[in-house]
Amino acid sequence: MHKLILKAGREKSLKRRHPWVFSGAMAKVQGSPGPGETVGVWSATGEFLAVAAYSPESQIVARVWDWKDRAIDAAYFQERIQRAVVQRRGLLDGTSTDGMRLVNGESDGLPGVVADRYGDTIVVQLSSAGADRWREAIADALLEAGGAKRVWERSDADVRELEGLPPVTAALRGPREPTRIAVTENGIRFSVDLEHGHKTGFYLDQRDNRRRLREFARGRDVLDGFCYTGGFALNAAAGGAKSVTAVDSSADAIALARANADTNKLAQPEWMEGDVFLLLRKFRDQARSFDLIVLDPPKFAPTAAHAEKASRAYKDINLLAFKLLRPGGLLVTFSCSGGVSADLFQKIIAGAALDAGVDARITERLGPGADHPMALNFPEGDYLKGLICRVPDK
Ligand code: SAH
Repeated sequence: MHKLILKAGREKSLKRRHPWVFSGAMAKVQGSPGPGETVGVWSATGEFLAVAAYSPESQIVARVWDWKDRAIDAAYFQERIQRAVVQRRGLLDGTSTDGMRLVNGESDGLPGVVADRYGDTIVVQLSSAGADRWREAIADALLEAGGAKRVWERSDADVRELEGLPPVTAALRGPREPTRIAVTENGIRFSVDLEHGHKTGFYLDQRDNRRRLREFARGRDVLDGFCYTGGFALNAAAGGAKSVTAVDSSADAIALARANADTNKLAQPEWMEGDVFLLLRKFRDQARSFDLIVLDPPKFAPTAAHAEKASRAYKDINLLAFKLLRPGGLLVTFSCSGGVSADLFQKIIAGAALDAGVDARITERLGPGADHPMALNFPEGDYLKGLICRVPDK
């Protein structure tokens, strides 16, 4: 096996089972591994540390497949994917839900591999050179273990560029059609556009939080900022909201959201195509107010390097939202930025409330569902954090 040898003393993070080797920690490579090929990772003193996928173009020059010295082959992917599926068994029993994350990358011991199941279709996203190299084995294993009839690939995330990989959208197993399918989440059917939808097509990580919102939407005037295909907006409608206003900058997303409301025979929210940053200002100037505001923006800070600019953006929209809330109103606010820690996010929200002049309280903390586990040794996996804040009654 090819060998990747670390600089002296740079084995510490691997020994704590953090699965990435940064290029700065690498001393040399013995052999001539190609992108995605398996290498053994060794310390400068000749201690074996892990088997990993080599990615010469990336700053993350290797990602660990296993901590013991073993062959990485089709059987390996069968085993790991089977394990991920078994760990999720029973998770959604008793709910009317057929959408679930089956593989959550590093946290399931499969760096660069994300797989979401929507009914009979699994959508896989391969975002590292190692994952890309094992495409066929991964597709077979998903089909075998994942309880679906076909496997689609949506490997078009920007991060692939950093690995020197081109974007790929394709049917891997089973028929290419239909490209528009449905997923049911707690009884609500959502259309998923396999070709053009965001990420794998739907944001499964917000499932439990959407249901939570449904529980307290009754009788309230609700604003859903960044609504995408209507995840929160339709749960608010299903929960008996008095009115629902939902905003997104994507006309395609709103078209799907509107169709989703019809499919589920829910009252049509007021859909608005536009920029939340501008619309919140417009609502302020119009003195419009709400009882419940959801803010689930795209990730403003992919890495910690973007944290400062992202902080300003989060503060801006949350400050405006606090101002639009009526007494006793609730703000349900999220960040899915890996570069913004839970601690920093809470500080940003505190600053927003302070500047808005409201003495708000955190009443709940939210995260992704149990099908999105996070390995304790992999803090980079901690991306989605949410807070519910209540502003005082009059
Ligand atoms: N809450 C949604 C997911 C939101 S994803 C759900 O439950 O499914 C973030 C969304 O924000 C995307 O649909 C994107 O089109 C939209 N978006 C990005 N920037 C925006 C902006 N400045 N104003 C309004 N929408 C924006």
